[in-house]
Amino acid sequence: MAAKSALLRKIKRPPNIVLIFADDLGYADTGVYGSKTIPTPNIDALAKRGVRFTDAYVTAGTCSPSRAGLMSGRYQQRFGFEFNTAGAGITHRESRGLDPAVITFPKVLQHTGYATGMFGKWHLGTRSYFHPNTRGFDDFFGFLAGAHGYFPVKKEERVYSTVMRNKTHLKEPEYLTDAFARETVRFIHKNKDKPFFAYVPFNAVHTPIEASKTYRDRFPDVKNPQQKTYNAMVSALDDAVGAIVGALKETQTEKNTLVIFMNDNGGPIYTRVQSNAPLRLGKLFLFEGGIRVPMIMSWAGVLEAGSIYRQPVSSLDIYPTLCEAAGITLPPELKLDGVNLFPHLNGEIDTAPHEALFWSNGPNKALRLGQWKMVQAHDHVWLFDLENDIGETKNLAMAKPEILKTLQAKLKQWQIEMKPPAWPSKPRRRKVKVDGALYELNI
Ligand code: CA
Repeated sequence: MAAKSALLRKIKRPPNIVLIFADDLGYADTGVYGSKTIPTPNIDALAKRGVRFTDAYVTAGTCSPSRAGLMSGRYQQRFGFEFNTAGAGITHRESRGLDPAVITFPKVLQHTGYATGMFGKWHLGTRSYFHPNTRGFDDFFGFLAGAHGYFPVKKEERVYSTVMRNKTHLKEPEYLTDAFARETVRFIHKNKDKPFFAYVPFNAVHTPIEASKTYRDRFPDVKNPQQKTYNAMVSALDDAVGAIVGALKETQTEKNTLVIFMNDNGGPIYTRVQSNAPLRLGKLFLFEGGIRVPMIMSWAGVLEAGSIYRQPVSSLDIYPTLCEAAGITLPPELKLDGVNLFPHLNGEIDTAPHEALFWSNGPNKALRLGQWKMVQAHDHVWLFDLENDIGETKNLAMAKPEILKTLQAKLKQWQIEMKPPAWPSKPRRRKVKVDGALYELNI
């Protein structure tokens, strides 16, 4: 009996997992990533308790394909998910969404006994077979399209979509960021006695730029009203992170909970309020400002508090890393592109988790290989040395033809494995000039 008890003590309950996923947040809009103007004590505290990543990437510069990569652990181009299902509007094409054949990691966690809940924006399809309730979530509270107003919807106002609890529409009276935090807190309390997974994809700080007076009043010195409201939105997001961590403390589940904070793509430049400094450009682009994002992982006793990880990692890694935390052995048939990060974070493996990372958005392609980054658009190509030029200011394509050739060959090899886009990009493409070259923004 004694031996058995000792053994049982060693078998810990699988950890709870909370994945907080912000939307369109600027790379430098939290204190821990360099903001001097927007205090984010709760997000900063998360970094103090865990690992902060300097070179974390998402798989796209836009919301919907980025989420497809996250949920599948595979380059979303493998199943044709190259572009958004639609723009932010209610014109969302019904037939577009995350391929029902894809087994999401919430589905895996649910299958192994986790209580699973999602609170926020889905953007991976609206039909019933795309709905979060059929893709691995016991509980869903949020909306299905790409954007949503933050205040209760009035008939005469522009409506993007409506908030739902599971498959039932409702009128949410609270500021939406507060509401998603409230529902996550409830879920944590309800499931505190079993392993739970909460996915919290806030639509904050995606447009529309809206915040309640309580949050705007925190920035009395900011004169530009759009900037004031944006800062307030980030502040509300930080409060929401604080409320979620608070619920973990109240339920005494904090110590056995892995908390991740990440963002779905860089801050857009068209709103003129986000800061991606020191990265170049922003959302929609494959320059660093579009695809490099804040990422923090915290798990007491497992991950070193206050540490920084500098090798490139990807949102693709979330799937296998979370499953590893849960003690799940994944079958190789899943063919994930992501990597379990634990041996890298714990120093068992010194090499970078990925040999290379790839991006594709219509004619725009990008690749990161060690310190090198290549961006292609129509007939123009850039090569940057990120180790010495994080802001992608100096194009070395002419100066380093051999390196360029190596990267181009790798990209070509990767492209062979990908499927053509399953649907076209938004018909009204925007074209901009970057260093005098035409860059087509595909959404
Ligand atoms: Ca986004």
